[in-house]
Parts: sequence; C-alpha cells; structure tokens
Amino acid sequence: MRTQIDKAHDLAERFGGWKDGVLAPGGVKVSDIAAEHGTPFYLYHGEMIVDRVRRVREALGGDVEVTYSVKANPNLAVTQVIAREHLTGAEVASSGELVVARTAGFEPEDIVFAGPAKTDEELEMAVREGIFAVNVESVNEINRLAAVAERHDKNIGVGLRINPAQQLMGSGMRMGGTVGQFGLDEADLEEAVRRTLAHPEHMTLRGIHVYTATQVFEVDPLIEHCRNIFELALKTADLAGRPLEMVDFGGGFGVPYFEKLEEFDLERFGAGFQELLAHYRTDPRLEGCRFVFELGRYLVADAGLYVTKVIDVKDMKGKTFVTTDGGMNHHLTATGNMGQVFRKAYPILNLSRSPGEGEPVALAGPCCTPLDMFGTNIPLADPEPGDLVGVFYSGAYGFSASNLGFLSHPNPAEILIWQGEARLLRPVGKPEDVLKGQEALV
Ligand SMILES: *Cc1c(COP(=O)(O)O)cnc(C)c1O
Repeated sequence: MRTQIDKAHDLAERFGGWKDGVLAPGGVKVSDIAAEHGTPFYLYHGEMIVDRVRRVREALGGDVEVTYSVKANPNLAVTQVIAREHLTGAEVASSGELVVARTAGFEPEDIVFAGPAKTDEELEMAVREGIFAVNVESVNEINRLAAVAERHDKNIGVGLRINPAQQLMGSGMRMGGTVGQFGLDEADLEEAVRRTLAHPEHMTLRGIHVYTATQVFEVDPLIEHCRNIFELALKTADLAGRPLEMVDFGGGFGVPYFEKLEEFDLERFGAGFQELLAHYRTDPRLEGCRFVFELGRYLVADAGLYVTKVIDVKDMKGKTFVTTDGGMNHHLTATGNMGQVFRKAYPILNLSRSPGEGEPVALAGPCCTPLDMFGTNIPLADPEPGDLVGVFYSGAYGFSASNLGFLSHPNPAEILIWQGEARLLRPVGKPEDVLKGQEALV
C-alpha cells in the first residue's frame, strides 16, 4: 500500500523528476514559473494528459469511443490539447462548456450534452450546433427539445439518460437505483421512447446514456454494471423497434487521491469490457452502434499540480501551522470541501526542499474559516516562508470547481507545460479584479 508521500513522489517523477528542491516538468523549473508569473497557480502537463488519453483508448479497444467530460477541467487550452489528439469526443453539461468544446475543435457529431435543468436557450444552442445527442433527463425535456427543434426546423439526436432500476453494490458504492434529479426513471423508459419517436421530423433516437457513479475503483461491479447497460440498450431497441446508434456507459473511473486508495485497474477493466462487447455487439439491435465512455477526472487529474507559496509558519501548543497564499478559495476539492464525507489530504510536497519527510504539520489556506485546511498531518519537509508547496492530482475539479470569489483574494494563474514550454493561459488576478463586472452606486 503506497502512502501519500509515495504517491507524491511518483507524481513528481512523472512531472519530470524532483531533486534538490527542483521540479522541472518539460525542462521548465517550477520555481522559475513562480518567479515570473507569481503564485498561486495551476500547472497542467499537456503531455501527461495526452499519454493518459492514449492509454485509455488502448485499454478499451479501438472501437470504443471516449468523450472528455469538459466540466472536469474546462480550461480552453487543456481542452484543445485533448481535442487535437482526435481520440475523443466531448461531453458537455452547459452552454458554456459547449462553447469551450466547439472552440477547442471538437466536431458537433462528437459532442453529447447531458445535465439536469437544461434551459430552452441551451437546447436551442445544441440544436443549432447539430450535436450528436442531447442526453435528456426527463420526459418533459423531450417535449421541450422537440418544440425547439421544430421551431428551428432541424433534427436533433436524442439520448435517453436512464437512472437504472437495478442496483449494484461494490464496497458500499451505489451505482444506480437511487432517487435524484439525474436521468429518467427506468420505469418511464417506454414513455420516453414513445415521445421521442413521436417527432420523426425533428428527433432521432440515438440510444441510451447511464452515468450514476464517480470515483469507481472496483472493476468487477463496474463490468456487471456495463452488462446491465447492454441489457437496457437491447430493451430500449425493442421498445423502439429499431437498432440503437449509441450506448453511453458513463465512466467515473477513480483517481486515488487519498490514503488507502490504489489505482483503478484500467487494463483489467478494458479486457473485461472488450469481452462483454464481443458478446453483445453482434446483436442486430446494436448494429453500427457507437459505444461510448465519458471520462473527466481520469483523463486530467494526475496531470495537474496546484502550487501555492508558504506565507507563515507558527507553532501552537506543539502543533506547527503552515499557511499559504491559496486554499479552499482556489482548490475547494483539495481542502475536502466538495462533498467529501471524511476529509483527507491529497499528496502534497514542499517543492522547495529535497525529498524526505518532515514533521507532520497543519497546512491551511488564507481564508478566514477553519474549513480552509489542506490537511492537519502533512509531512512537509522543513517549511519556511517563501517555499513552494505542490498539491498533486489537481488537474480536475480545481479552478472551475472552487468558490473563487470567497474572501476576494486574487485568482490563481493557469499555466500549461506543452512541448517544453510553460504557457501562461490565465494570469494571476489582481486585487482590483474584485470590482470587475460590478456597478457602483452613483
Ligand atoms: C461529471 C460527469 C462525468 C465525469 O465524471 P468523472 O468522475 O470526472 O469522470 C461524466 N458524465 C456525466 C454525465 C457527468 O455529469
């Protein structure tokens, strides 16, 4: 079982090696980036993202498609790095993400749009762009989408996002069968198929979509889950009286952020899935069908590093507190504030020192709440003001998932290491930015 420090060292190694206080991804020193652009910043490693995308495609087999879930990291250049590989499509969950996906270079026929509460304006944009499928989440949404398509005299692809009746349990992980705002109840499937087929001029039933879990590590329950989705697809094809064009299996492959979590076994899952696919794909009801996985964090999390500067170090009753210039305001998930039940620390290193464990410290951000804490027992080597602290696994659900306005600190920068260069994607914010977009009283 690898400790958090082992994981941090592995990740630093993949970021280009770390020694004598020097981490230099793609040959660019992180300390030089900090000196030039200031702190805090998100650093994304383009080549690591590309490697991961290729590995996933290889493991799943050439015929299985992957879409990038833009919400994991909607940064334009990061999305471009993925789009330019031509190995994935895009899964978007808002009109803004659709703008990012199109601007990054994804073709409409490779884009699907899921998400509860899509507005008419968002549906309109999907229709105008002519994306492959709007994954509808309710019977009502089918009717609204039909009305929008009719108004624009277009035909739009429809995927039925189903919340399956069958529950699968893997180490307490609940996959479907829950009650929530996502997807159509499986009990409403027949009705949903009927309503979709009622508008042949303006709607094409592409198939089904099931996404019910994230942070999945257990391979066998996930394969069973996929078998269920195949069965659900056949049932849908029977109800429709025609073959399906898309089965979207969701994804949710896990990233081992925390202690006691080990890597998701991608190769074993891929082999198991390919076996399953070989069994089902010859069914005429799935002839010519696109088989899709949608992945967010698994593609980008390990390729991101959040770098923040130590501002203060103090001892209080035998406990050392280290504070930094960024925290929950920039990186909500790494401070355990995005839905985590048990708050645990990410792999974290003092990048300004040499490898080696220090005494455990409490590492806190600048926000005036005890919630702003990266961890209370982080073995940070010899922290001193001015040191650079690196929070690994920060490529997904970082910048865009944080409450950037809280406490009105400047925003962090976003920087991409790509082809041996550090490219500034977004500069560190300024104190005056807090006034942007606001109207003063006159
Ligand atoms: C968020 C989301 C994803 C991506 O989830 P990850 O856990 O980041 O892989 C995929 N599909 C849908 C519908 C989502 O909402």
